[in-house]
Amino acid sequence: MSPVPKVFDFIVIGGGSGGMATARRAAAHGAKVALVEKSNRLGGTCVNVGCVPKKVCFNAATVQETLNDAKHYGFTLPGKSTFNWKALKDARDAYVHRLNGIYERNLQREAVEYFFGQAKFVSRNTIQVCDEQIQASKILIATGGYPIHPKVPGVELGIDSDAFFELEEQPKKVAVVGSGYIGIELANIFHALGTQTSVFIRTNQILRHFDTVISDTLMKEMKNVGINMVCHSHVKAIEKVPGAELPLKLVYDVEGQGELSEQFDCVLWAVGRAPHSHGLGLESIGVDTNDAGHIVVDDFQNTSVEGIYALGDVCGHMELTPVAIAAGRILAGRLFGGPQFAQAKMDYTNVPTVIFAHPPIGSIGLSEADARKKYGDDQIKVYNTQFTAMFYAVTENKPPTRFKLIVQGPEEKVVGLHIIGRGVDEMLQGFGVAMKMGATKKDFDSCVAIHPTSSEELVTLK
Ligand SMILES: Cc1cc2nc3c(=O)[nH]c(=O)nc-3n(C[C@H](O)[C@H](O)[C@H](O)COP(=O)(O)OP(=O)(O)OC[C@H]3O[C@@H](n4cnc5c(N)ncnc54)[C@H](O)[C@@H]3O)c2cc1C
Repeated sequence: MSPVPKVFDFIVIGGGSGGMATARRAAAHGAKVALVEKSNRLGGTCVNVGCVPKKVCFNAATVQETLNDAKHYGFTLPGKSTFNWKALKDARDAYVHRLNGIYERNLQREAVEYFFGQAKFVSRNTIQVCDEQIQASKILIATGGYPIHPKVPGVELGIDSDAFFELEEQPKKVAVVGSGYIGIELANIFHALGTQTSVFIRTNQILRHFDTVISDTLMKEMKNVGINMVCHSHVKAIEKVPGAELPLKLVYDVEGQGELSEQFDCVLWAVGRAPHSHGLGLESIGVDTNDAGHIVVDDFQNTSVEGIYALGDVCGHMELTPVAIAAGRILAGRLFGGPQFAQAKMDYTNVPTVIFAHPPIGSIGLSEADARKKYGDDQIKVYNTQFTAMFYAVTENKPPTRFKLIVQGPEEKVVGLHIIGRGVDEMLQGFGVAMKMGATKKDFDSCVAIHPTSSEELVTLK
């Protein structure tokens, strides 16, 4: 053990989206910063087992769909197209590896000292990393989360979203257990790339935290393209069937039908995530966590212990990369940026979010149900439209497009925007700016439409 701990202005635990952004911004404000990361790959969930490799897979699935549609645009493709899962994995891994290197060089450039190892508090201002101790009066916990697994016999025969990115071969037949956004995105990727796909859902609704226009439309479309959506199902076990081509027997029951089983060669658990708050020694220094293990923070990312802060997935509020990054940059400004940032805090309202399903989904603000609950029925008006995007005018395949705008009060302030359809993932950001500025329906209508696009429908709603 080093006899004298190294002293910093700021220690950041976790080299993911939130930790990296906070450390770099604090260093840019002139702080002497240390960053501790336990994995040998910087970038955290997003870069290594989340947004980035997932989006590469989404892109591959989109290419496959375009190939399917190509003949309707007059193209004759040379023979039947084949897809090589391993080639995609190799290209994706190489890209992620490049990003890991860029993240490390960014730390060097900003003079953030990088410690590789698992961090643990030994006192309020001292962190143990391997055989070294480091100290700071300000410490950030940005340790993210991890996928959880259900407590059923044979659980170890399934994989989770982390292991999805390690699959060397494409499964022939997959069961995705869970219907939150991660399960839905991965199920859509599997299906589009040619894996026979089933989704096991506890209720009769997917994406339960989103507006029903989104969940209902996507559910219908997933059924329509041939994904087996098993509603009201509860998985009981996975059993190994030695020698079988599909060696995993999934045992489950469905309300009203009793116990059933089906064989697969891959079962993917997508049943939720838990925070990385254990093993840090938080109890010993008095940092409060809630029942789910999330670190409790106030509006300024302060924990229950002065000088210790937390943000990102470990706090469990809006688990998105840009949210962790924004919260981190604001915190770094407040701690080291001078008096003009003294009261700066993250605004968690109207955060735009996209689900990279097929078709993609975009959502900002309140769902219709939440808006009615918050403002009352008489204050809420809802504008809806549904149509076929022009890309599909000549194709056989006609996925849906549906838009919903929720407005409040006599001014018709836009408080919710929920869209599903081709291209909405790239459409949403600008509408996010408008809603952040407090746009009304009249503002939307005063913007001249771009024709012919899908987005024009959002400024011509009747
Ligand atoms: C499959 C999937 C797809 C996703 N897709 C999207 C998307 O499209 N868009 C989006 O915005 N978000 C997406 N997310 C969510 C996004 O990845 C997270 O919200 C984001 O990474 C959270 O950042 P963070 O800094 O809080 O934690 P993380 O990025 O998880 O970083 C935490 C880091 O802390 C390290 N750590 C943990 N404990 C310790 C310790 N004791 N000592 C040292 N280091 C430690 C971990 O190794 C990790 O590197 C996705 C997530 C998943 C799983």
